[in-house]
Amino acid sequence: MRHLAQGIDRFQREIFPAKAGLFAHLATNHQPGTLFISCSDARVVPELITQSDPGELFVIRTAGNLVPAYTPGADGVAASIEYAVAVLGVKDVIVCGHSACGAMTALAEGHDLNGAPAIADWLRHADASQARAIAPSAGEDKVSALVRQNVAAQLTNLATHPSVARALAEGSVRLHGWVFDIPTGTVEELLDAPQALAA
Ligand SMILES: [Zn+2]
Repeated sequence: MRHLAQGIDRFQREIFPAKAGLFAHLATNHQPGTLFISCSDARVVPELITQSDPGELFVIRTAGNLVPAYTPGADGVAASIEYAVAVLGVKDVIVCGHSACGAMTALAEGHDLNGAPAIADWLRHADASQARAIAPSAGEDKVSALVRQNVAAQLTNLATHPSVARALAEGSVRLHGWVFDIPTGTVEELLDAPQALAA
């Protein structure tokens, strides 16, 4: 924990002063342009890889960047999506997968999750991805293929949320699928985001 306290101290001394004007503006304004849904993985840092300032990205992070399809009821992911899209009016929604994802590795390699029931239950939201994960293309391993298919499947799930379906029908939001490659730092944009699917 000590290095975190030191980080806060350094932030206040060296970083915050240069952005004091921005934070003063943000104190009473919250108008992010983008909803960024990524994996909770510590190696994926949305603001770093997109070089975004505070206030620009509304971020949801879940294990495996999974977005459960909409069902009525209390659901933190659904509430955050609705807030970003219907209340804040974001213009773009990105689902960002990444290389070497632990969740996708567990699925692709059929790990025994009997000792981790919450993870096993949660990963069922990736069932459609597994069904779609056809044979990897040349040079692609099973995990990479599933990472890509999973981003596409979660975009489809995202479009089942009423706020997203409405915004897609109105043409006020665009969906994007990305995959971040940890060893090279590159971001690949997948081209099959379902813009018209829910419209
Ligand atoms: Zn991951």
